[in-house]
Amino acid sequence: MAKDYYNILGVNKSSTQDEIKKAFRKKAHECHPDKKGGDEAKFKEANEAYQVLGNEKKRSQYDQFGSTFNGAQAGGNSHGQGFGGFQDFGGFQNGGFQVDMDDLGDIFGGLGDIFGFGGGKSSRQKQGRGRDMESTIIIDFKEAIFGVEKELKMRRKIICDRCKGNKADPGSKIEACKNCKGTGKVAKMQRTIFGNMQVQAVCPECAGEGKTYSKKCSKCNGIGVVEEMSNIKVNIPAGVDNGETLRLSGHGEAGSSGFSAGDLYVNIKVNFSKDFKREGYDIYTEKSINFKQAVLGDKIEIETVHGNVSLKIPAGTQFGTTFKLRSKGVKRVQGVGHGDHLVKININTPSNLNRKQKKQIFELDI
Ligand SMILES: [Zn+2]
Ligand SMILES: [Zn+2]
Repeated sequence: MAKDYYNILGVNKSSTQDEIKKAFRKKAHECHPDKKGGDEAKFKEANEAYQVLGNEKKRSQYDQFGSTFNGAQAGGNSHGQGFGGFQDFGGFQNGGFQVDMDDLGDIFGGLGDIFGFGGGKSSRQKQGRGRDMESTIIIDFKEAIFGVEKELKMRRKIICDRCKGNKADPGSKIEACKNCKGTGKVAKMQRTIFGNMQVQAVCPECAGEGKTYSKKCSKCNGIGVVEEMSNIKVNIPAGVDNGETLRLSGHGEAGSSGFSAGDLYVNIKVNFSKDFKREGYDIYTEKSINFKQAVLGDKIEIETVHGNVSLKIPAGTQFGTTFKLRSKGVKRVQGVGHGDHLVKININTPSNLNRKQKKQIFELDI
């Protein structure tokens, strides 16, 4: 019977992607195997459900095809070598011809999309490749402007350090697989919609690795990867802005059986500054001067993110005039140079003049 992924996550068919994500996080939190009272089976089940419902394309396939899709998924996800659903085709006789499984993967991958099962090359690669991960880092305003190195603590699958990912316990005897003579592939006849074809299939003895070993790695139990807390250094480049996402290629989870690691997506949140306003690569501030400075001109100091800069106020400066301090803004992440610092001038109109001052102003007749 097909699993009801909606039921597993406690959502329904009309739930939004956001609701599904939230439901998954809650569920994963509840039954995480590291927690007291956690339940690994339930955790895996929730994860499996989220892998499908959390992905809009897979979700719509699942909605349309339900159980067929499920069956193929379940058959194809063990070690990244599944060829889901493939045998279900009725065949007609045809002369045997040699086809490489990878080519077939494309053909059946395409059909898989139509028929709704997850066979084919692309999904095999996805299954072996490490999972992408996502996290958020909050940084200060100036850290965003000048760049900063931060450390993320994350639980993720990494290559097992005992066996270096090759699954054999150190000292264990590694031999070429006898069944496939070390090639990892065996020829077999396959009934397909094109008739009987001789295809190369993954060797069932060694799961395509071409080797066998006398003792499985005791740390990872022969999987090659382990799930551990690890610290990940994240170099945040100068100029990054609030709401941007950094992609750290290959810093997600380790892949199985030599597949590449997933990516790590780091969402950047930047704290506001009470002194500066940022728009893109430009910085905006305001500065108040007095009436005399506005009328007669002066030289004043403006605080920028790069330190104080002297600005000449010309005689007769109007309220609200904006001056541009060129290249005193934020370094551009891509491209060269910096944005600008724009300072808007406010003028403090004197409001508590004494009788004599008032008379002097009056006599100026301006
Ligand atoms: Zn190991
Ligand atoms: Zn083999």
